[in-house]
Order: sequence, then C-alpha cells, then structure tokens
Amino acid sequence: MKKIELLSPAGNLEKLKTAIIYGADAVYIGGKKFSLRARASNFDLEDIKEACEFAEKHNSKVYVTMNIIPHNEDFEGLEEYLQYLESVGVKAIITSSPHIIDVALRLTPKMEVHLSTQLSIINSASCNYYADLGVKRIVLGRETTLKDIEEIKRNTNISLEVFVHGGMCSSYSGRCMLSNHFVNRDANRGGCAHSCRWDYFLYDDEKLLHSEDRFFNFGAKDLMGLRAIPKLIDLGVDSLKIEGRMKSNYYIATIVRTYRRLIDDYYAGNKLDYMYYLSELIKAENRLTSTGFLFGDVTVNEQLYQHDGIPTKEFVGIVLDYNENTKVAKIEQRNFFKIGDKLEFFGPNLENTHIIVEEIRDEENNLLDAARHPKQHIFMKLDFPVSEYDMIRLVIDK
Ligand code: SF4
Repeated sequence: MKKIELLSPAGNLEKLKTAIIYGADAVYIGGKKFSLRARASNFDLEDIKEACEFAEKHNSKVYVTMNIIPHNEDFEGLEEYLQYLESVGVKAIITSSPHIIDVALRLTPKMEVHLSTQLSIINSASCNYYADLGVKRIVLGRETTLKDIEEIKRNTNISLEVFVHGGMCSSYSGRCMLSNHFVNRDANRGGCAHSCRWDYFLYDDEKLLHSEDRFFNFGAKDLMGLRAIPKLIDLGVDSLKIEGRMKSNYYIATIVRTYRRLIDDYYAGNKLDYMYYLSELIKAENRLTSTGFLFGDVTVNEQLYQHDGIPTKEFVGIVLDYNENTKVAKIEQRNFFKIGDKLEFFGPNLENTHIIVEEIRDEENNLLDAARHPKQHIFMKLDFPVSEYDMIRLVIDK
C-alpha cells in the first residue's frame, strides 16, 4: 500500500533539515519571490538548491510555495524562476494563480503543480476542473470535514492534501482585510499580522459584551487532527500537511516526530496511543487546539474568544555532537537552564530520556552554574548516546 505523505513546513534551511531528519516525507518552503509568508522565507536560490540536495539524499522532497495573489508587477522574472526551480530538483510548486499554473504547466513539465489552499477548494467539481487543466494535487480548504473529504475522494482522482495541524484562519484562508486595514500588511501577499488574534473590546451599541478584565478576540484555536489520521489514511488521502513556516525548529521537530510515529504505528498495526501522541504535541504547542472542521462544522468550542493560551515546556538546546568514548555531548544552548534543572532529551531515534543537570562546561572547560547565552556551545556528560539534531526541553513539573 502506498504510504501517506507527511508534509512539513520549513522557514529556513535548518528547519528543513530538522523536518526531514525527524521524519517528513516532503517539506514545503517559500522562496524570496511569489510566496506568502514573505517574512518566513529565508530561501534564496542557492538555499533552494541545497534544500533539494539534502532532501534527495534523505528520500524526501521539496515543494515551493508560489501562493501570493499576484498583481501585474509581481510576475516579473516568473519564467526564469520556474525554470530554476525545476533545474535544481523541486518536485512541485504550490500556487493559486491561474497565470502561474498556466506558465508552469507549459514551461516546467517535470515539476508538479499543486493548487494552494488559498483557493479554498472544498468540493469535487472544483477538484476535477483543476485536474483537467493538468494540476496534480489539491490542497483542500481547511473548511472541509472528514465527510466532505470522503465525498470528494469518491468523485475525483486527483491527489488530495489535507491540513492536520497548525494555525487556522478565521476567514476562508486569507480572504480577510483586517491586517491590511489595521497595519497595512496584506494577508494575501504574505503579510498577515494575525489581527484576528488581537485583544478587542466588543460592544453592542454602548454595552460591553464581556467583563472588562478579559478582552475579546475572534481568532480560531489551532488545528490538531491526531484522531483523524487513521480515517484520512483509510480514505486514500495522499498527503497530511502541517502548517507553520514561521514556527521554531523545536516545534517542527516535535510535531513531525509525533505524527511520524502515529502514521508508522497505524501502518504497522500497532495499538495507537493517543495519550502519548497528545502529551508529545502539547510540549510544543503554546496555543489552544481543536479538531477544526474535521469532525463537523465548528462551534464556539473551536474559537478562542476569551480563552488564554497554554504554557509550554521550553526548548533549551540542540545536540551538535556526541563523543562515545568520553560520553560528552556538545550542545547548542537555545534557552536558559541551570544546574539542578530536569531536562528531557528526545530525537528521531531517541526515546524521551530525563536527566537532572549536574554539570555544564563551556568550550574552555570551565564549570558553569547555568547555560545563559543563546547559541553558546556547552558540554554535558550523558550516560546514554545522543545524536546530532536530538533536542532538549526543560521539564516543568507541576
Ligand atoms: S487576520 Fe486572521 S482571519 Fe485575517 S487573514 Fe490573518 S489569520 Fe486570517
């Protein structure tokens, strides 16, 4: 049976490598041009080439988003850009622009065209329309339920990609002018300031509709589709997509690793341990989550309105190297931790392992009472082997 694809976001090369090492079958990135999340796009042309080489070496794939809603001037250099992407081994572009679709299909036939969720495709007739044009995959609108997806799958042969984790938009993917209005940042050209998540006072005429000490916001809870994965696999969906090119390296590692395990467990016929998967995911989440539209239309429970976020365990370091003879790990510090703190090490091949910090040394072999400086290289003795890309979180016992 063809295995479903796990598709991860990546905002830069480090995140791309992390996503692939932690189990992503494919990664989507944005270049400096034609892409939403312009602020998250750290891939220049050389980086895209390196990303493709790294992905190829690890049996993964790179897709490039070209999903702005373009004005005339945005098309400058389009043909050269597409040809470059194809030449370095990009497997697909993700776009919503009819012109970009047209040029890509004519000019770069080795690269697939995937239809961006910006077009909010939520029915099979639209899927078939784009399939007839030559589009290979539809990224379905996040407003589709499992029932909708089943129906769509029955009536189309086109490859389907479904969002299973990450931020939601309170409008149909970016069809919203809030950010343009408040801060002159265009959500459809990659600048969304998430104005729906800001704090507001909500009035009906003169009457405040909530208590004064708790503001109102109309953002949606983030999506967490854990329990929908078996059904999506059974339906024959082709790709499970994680949202979040702005998210951290640590977030990517945690989320990709957990969905990788769930997917692999399901194909292996293992018992699915949802409590474990959930406990892993919430270590990286700092926002409330829901199942979005997957199990039916959304209710008040899928919105934030007056809820607060949830605290997260803190990402404190990443392993750069481990010396098996001395049992010393070289670690890059990412957040403060100190002697006596409880840390959890985890990795693609490392089960969660706890230690109490007893000794930290710097590069000059000086003893430290804490790891204070971001990106500082420190050394710790560990009685279990770790590998490059393994990560460390601070455990906050409650
Ligand atoms: S402000 Fe909120 S609703 Fe508007 S485009 Fe951004 S995420 Fe969507």
